[in-house]
Amino acid sequence: MDRDPTSRAEDGGGANRSVVWDGNEGVGVESREVPPPGPGELKILVEASGLCGTDLHIASGEYPLARPRVTLGHEFSGAVVGVGEGVDAFAEGDRIVVDPNVPCRVCRYCHDSRPHLCENPQAIGVTRDGGLSEFALLPMSQAYRVPEALPSEAAALTEPLACALHAVDLGGCARASGHLSWGPGPSASCAPCSSLRPELRRSSSASPTRTGASASAKWARSPSIRSR
Ligand SMILES: [Zn+2]
Ligand SMILES: [Zn+2]
Repeated sequence: MDRDPTSRAEDGGGANRSVVWDGNEGVGVESREVPPPGPGELKILVEASGLCGTDLHIASGEYPLARPRVTLGHEFSGAVVGVGEGVDAFAEGDRIVVDPNVPCRVCRYCHDSRPHLCENPQAIGVTRDGGLSEFALLPMSQAYRVPEALPSEAAALTEPLACALHAVDLGGCARASGHLSWGPGPSASCAPCSSLRPELRRSSSASPTRTGASASAKWARSPSIRSR
């Protein structure tokens, strides 16, 4: 992956191409300015960015939380190419992956260590510009370093994988003799990933639709995610 920021934008790092939701039922690629990082922010040269079902809902005008004219993309990894004032935990060249959910840190739920219930949440790629773009800005608090050996495409899957594994933990699946994943999507199919969670060797997946059932069967035949 090319990590030279001057080779990725025609004007040397200012304007860049972004996938933008028009606020109705349209999505397009636009040339957008990405300013220098503000206080506490990182500027990221995006190396890999995933597409999620949420993106499809936003693009169809079916996601009320989304901000019109937002740059999509909430599952992405990349390299730090700029740091704002006060940033001391990251430096240019660091490879990072993004936690897209930005809690307000002041509401009662945030104070109660339940930021997933935040009353005033922001989300990168939903309410603020995201990573389906050559460059992205994000708060330092939302970045996590990734090992140099981890491919960017794999690092970009951290958020959906984390969601699936968290669901496994909440469901107490480690204590069960087997479990069923309902739905054929990649996130659900991550849940029984036996290479990550040996205790989940006995797993199956199912879908309410014929298309989904076909996808479930395909995933189930994969070497690392297998019904047993
Ligand atoms: Zn998603
Ligand atoms: Zn909050």
